Amino acid sequence: VDITPLLLSRIRDVADYPEPGVMFKDITPLLADPAAFTALTDALATVAANTGATKVVGLEARGFILGAPVAVRAGLGFIPVRKAGKLPGATLSQAYDLEYGSAEIEVHAEDLSADDRILIVDDVLATGGTAEASIELIRRAGAEVAGLAVLMELGFLGGRARLEPALAGAPLEAL
Ligand code: IMP
Repeated sequence: VDITPLLLSRIRDVADYPEPGVMFKDITPLLADPAAFTALTDALATVAANTGATKVVGLEARGFILGAPVAVRAGLGFIPVRKAGKLPGATLSQAYDLEYGSAEIEVHAEDLSADDRILIVDDVLATGGTAEASIELIRRAGAEVAGLAVLMELGFLGGRARLEPALAGAPLEAL
């Protein structure tokens, strides 16, 4: 069955959030609906299996909510990529540019090894800046990127084209 209509029906458009002119895609209605959340988890777990991933990386914060059940469903470990300053152990960091200013993400270096193939999971792909930085971070940690899976891709922002060099042939799946 095509789960797209179900998923779309549970995503709420919020105008002018977090700032004027932005139409925010809110996934909380989807999370609150067990049929939709389960369908999404199963679909993402299938992507994980198809890409031969050995671990799932979730991007803070909604990538944690989606990535953790996907890892469990696929029988894989879960690794959080967090905003700077949140992880207690030895980290690798990656800075990236935002529209105004910059941001930094981190991962526990010991969580990733050269044997790992990583499926990155997040809710929304917008400009691709966050995903691009996470791909770089995972490669620098010595692991391979098996693919990037998101619930939604905001196509008009051009994230897919931006990520093409970084993905280097690894699949980008937007449900
Ligand atoms: P990007 O780095 O511009 O691709 O932005 C992607 C990041 O911002 C992801 O971690 C998303 O969770 C978040 N994001 C951007 N736009 C939205 C939205 O409309 N809804 C929910 N999250 C969003």
